[in-house]
Amino acid sequence: MQHCCIYYKRCIFVNLNSRILMSIEELLKLKGVRSTGIRLKLIQVLMNSEYPLQQKEIEERWDEHIDRVTLYRNLKFLTSIGIIHKIEVSEFITSYNVNNLDDAEESSEHLHFHCVDCDKVICMPQHTIDEYKLPEGFMPANKKLIIDGTCKWCNTNG
Ligand SMILES: [Zn+2]
Ligand SMILES: [Zn+2]
Repeated sequence: MQHCCIYYKRCIFVNLNSRILMSIEELLKLKGVRSTGIRLKLIQVLMNSEYPLQQKEIEERWDEHIDRVTLYRNLKFLTSIGIIHKIEVSEFITSYNVNNLDDAEESSEHLHFHCVDCDKVICMPQHTIDEYKLPEGFMPANKKLIIDGTCKWCNTNG
């Protein structure tokens, strides 16, 4: 499978809007879960963004009132079934992104970039995380690799 970047995914969404919405519904159906309005809209909001969003940013992009707890529960649920992944940068910054729809097995185990100026997090799935040989007795559970720096938006604005 071609490892595509978030922009590629976004282009597909823009060009073939209804087809991708179909496949989200199909994907949810495959996972044995209902395609509720909130779930579909949440995936749509995340897909329309060029970068992963924090919950407060999702709330800002929601065109009507959305209950915080409901949104949080849905984010947690979609993460648990592998439709989206979350990136925990710190206690205060958690961002979410849709997994590559062509590859339902895709996990969050790729490089993430965190901008220290604007706190945006960017997925870089073209860079997977190496397998590290750990000393005896150490068992890895999940792998995170985050590069701190300044993003292209901050670098061009100013
Ligand atoms: Zn930035
Ligand atoms: Zn990611």
